[in-house]
Amino acid sequence: MDEPHDDGYQTVIIGGGQAGLAVGYHLAQRGVPFVILDANERVGDAWRTRWDSLHLFTPALADGLPGWPFPAPPWSFPSKDDMADYLESYAARFDLPVRNGVGVARLARRGERYVVTSAVGHLVEIKAPEEYEVMQKHSGYGTRIMKNFPDHEAKILRGHAELGSRLLELAESPILALAATISLSHHEKWDGSGYPRGLAGTQIPLEARLFAIVDVWDAITTDRPYRKSWPRKKALKYIREQSGKYFDPQLVEVFLEEMQE
Ligand SMILES: Cc1cc2nc3c(=O)[nH]c(=O)nc-3n(C[C@H](O)[C@H](O)[C@H](O)COP(=O)(O)OP(=O)(O)OC[C@H]3O[C@@H](n4cnc5c(N)ncnc54)[C@H](O)[C@@H]3O)c2cc1C
Repeated sequence: MDEPHDDGYQTVIIGGGQAGLAVGYHLAQRGVPFVILDANERVGDAWRTRWDSLHLFTPALADGLPGWPFPAPPWSFPSKDDMADYLESYAARFDLPVRNGVGVARLARRGERYVVTSAVGHLVEIKAPEEYEVMQKHSGYGTRIMKNFPDHEAKILRGHAELGSRLLELAESPILALAATISLSHHEKWDGSGYPRGLAGTQIPLEARLFAIVDVWDAITTDRPYRKSWPRKKALKYIREQSGKYFDPQLVEVFLEEMQE
């Protein structure tokens, strides 16, 4: 990323570990506009998720990043959580613009710009934080817009399931073949009221029936730009209510058992 754009970042750092944060520190010192993208949910997670008894083999005097020595006696050996917390505090202390939960799947050049594709498939042309916030709201707008479409147009829009499946079928990997089946059928409902093919019961492939439950569970138990996550009790109640309607009743039973219900 050599040249700054009028409305964009000069630099995108992929990965907010020690290296990414240290580079971010220096860029911030020089007033260069940048953003740090990291797949993990929190700064320091690369350390936080290592085994519990892990202590660094390097003493604290060698563990600090530029601008802020590691806050521990120089010859002590920090734990992996000390390191994780230090990195998180470091990013906050220098107000480094880290965007967590953004796993980069692809970086491509488009003319004079670079385009970063995140792991969930969003095409992100990095511009400004405010713009990015607005982009994240797209799913909320989409839902509201879809509600206002006449039935026949909504049907065409729902073609995304088939389109996604066709794209995935182009690949030869068995994993992607599985993904193609799921993509095509995860909006089908046990009672036959789903789409795109209106399949019912065991006509719906097992992997799609399984996925439908965890997909809905994930959607309702996580914050979205257009609504807050549901409490666990309400989410479990919904899954139970949809047994035999949206979801395969036998799989709902297994799911609830797994969730210790
Ligand atoms: C068990 C263990 C013990 C260690 N002990 C020490 C020690 O005592 N002292 C020492 O100096 N070093 C130690 N190291 C090495 C040290 O962890 C690394 O050198 C250091 O973390 C490297 O920093 P980094 O920023 O390059 O990578 P990381 O800290 O691994 O950070 C990379 C970041 O990039 C993110 N990322 C990766 N791919 C993507 C993507 N596609 N999109 C978005 N984000 C992405 C990750 O989520 C991660 O946050 C140890 C390593 C291990 C495994």
